Amino acid sequence: MDAMAAAVEREAERLTELDSAIGDADHGSNLRRGFTAVAGALEKETPETPGAVLTLAGRTLISTVGGASGPLYGTLLRRTGKELGDATAVSREELARALGAGVGAVARLGGAQPGDKTMLDALLPAVDALGSSFDAARVAADAGALATVPLQARKGRASYLGERSIGHQDPGATSAALLIGALAEVAA
Ligand code: ADP
Ligand code: MG
Ligand code: MG
Repeated sequence: MDAMAAAVEREAERLTELDSAIGDADHGSNLRRGFTAVAGALEKETPETPGAVLTLAGRTLISTVGGASGPLYGTLLRRTGKELGDATAVSREELARALGAGVGAVARLGGAQPGDKTMLDALLPAVDALGSSFDAARVAADAGALATVPLQARKGRASYLGERSIGHQDPGATSAALLIGALAEVAA
């Protein structure tokens, strides 16, 4: 979570820039606020299991980020944490399975399908590839984010633009790739 917070801090301006093209120019600041709060909450409480860390992080994102990405990423982390249960150590395979449930919860909450130009377009391929390796997950997430460029947005604010959303990389898919990249970096 600390690596994710640092990555968000580093890339916040780029995320907001992407959101200024097809949204309301707040994705970087939304996530910066959220992940700063997550880092602060974890410093204060320091839960004892990976699952409890993710649950607290998800809860914190939901309560501090007003935009669409707050409840979506919050649900991702909370659901993944719940799946991990009380385990004190988590293998890559176990994480991949739990994250799969988390991504499923995001899809249900937001009602988005693959190809709708959302964070799911990076998260879904990443979770699949996590079955092989952390690095494969990072590569798949990056490719998924890049592949949103030619898509027309069908969910979220960018969908209001219709065809004018084509030709821009989705901010949420980009941040999802950033977060998976931070995970891969730490795992390595
Ligand atoms: P807001 O759009 O409320 O300002 P953000 O800018 O923080 O929120 O987040 C926008 C990102 O959220 C989009 O780029 C997209 O990836 C993601 N998103 C929006 N709506 C959905 C949805 N229904 N399902 C999945 N992801 C979504
Ligand atoms: Mg926005
Ligand atoms: Mg907004």
